[in-house]
Amino acid sequence: MDEFALIYDILAPLAGARPDVVLGIGDDGAVVQPRPGEALVIVTDTMVSGVHFPPTLGPADIGYRALAVNLSDIAAMGAEPRWATLALTLPAADEAWVRDFAAGLHEALVGYDVALVGGDTTRGPLTITVQIVGVVPQGTALTRAGARPGDLLFVSGTLGDAALGLEMLRNHAPLDAETAYLIGRLARPTPRVALGRALRGIATSCIDVSDGLLADVGHLARASACDIRIEAAALPCSTAAHARGDALQVLRCALSGGDDYELAFTAPASHAKDVFSAAAAIGCAVTRIGRVCKGPGRVDAVDPAGHPVTTQRGGYRHFES
Ligand code: ADP
Ligand code: MG
Repeated sequence: MDEFALIYDILAPLAGARPDVVLGIGDDGAVVQPRPGEALVIVTDTMVSGVHFPPTLGPADIGYRALAVNLSDIAAMGAEPRWATLALTLPAADEAWVRDFAAGLHEALVGYDVALVGGDTTRGPLTITVQIVGVVPQGTALTRAGARPGDLLFVSGTLGDAALGLEMLRNHAPLDAETAYLIGRLARPTPRVALGRALRGIATSCIDVSDGLLADVGHLARASACDIRIEAAALPCSTAAHARGDALQVLRCALSGGDDYELAFTAPASHAKDVFSAAAAIGCAVTRIGRVCKGPGRVDAVDPAGHPVTTQRGGYRHFES
């Protein structure tokens, strides 16, 4: 593994300095020091080339994204990210590739004040595993359980962009401003870390939208043992999405497309004002998109007349945007 020494030489300087890192890269393990009263929140996510990102994605984007998707899980827990490890499996020790990868990773580490405290480097098919440890004041972590009938459902940002971006990438669409925006949403998702923290004590349940809104809100519904009804006409979609997709395609991507890494969360109707002012304070758009009702844990999407919306071929009847 001698040739991987160069990888160490490139990655070790990314470590960054945090006063709470007692011992970082270079020993058998890292030592970090949380403050009294802090609970640790631990997340990890693996990205396999060709499975979790298109093989055409550039190394800098891969590096950025590997951290960003984990930061999104930290955000969904309402936590503050602190320390990360990186397990890197590479087919070869390609110095130019690793330098670009490191540059993208570094941007995300600096952007979110995370210290890289260790990792592992092995040979094999391109696979990147990041683990992040974050903190919350004891007892304040947001979870998927806790939504109650009468709560409202909210989502941050816009939905469906990354799925449309993936379609543009696959179709080799000309790279105009809208297409670049959509592909950028896939390549460099924006983890809503500040929003997650601001929602502590306000949101009753929270999840990040990685697998698609219906699927992820389904997790909230099941964990909370309530039904959740999504109002399809309320879903926030970007102008770029509307410019590049037809109404049905945009709706389908917003409901079922993955990889947007927005936060979907519930809060009591009486706290709606707090939700909007917390989001406004950090400059993050939030939209109310549905409500929680009594039920065993189902999710559906309806049009303004209350009819079920389906985006299956031929099944699309009521929704007009
Ligand atoms: P060991 O054999 O004890 O596991 P390694 O030689 O694998 O040690 O790693 C030496 C040091 O370099 C450790 O501190 C480890 O955390 C760090 N390290 C190895 N690979 C990476 C990586 N891909 N990213 C960050 N740190 C790494
Ligand atoms: Mg060791």
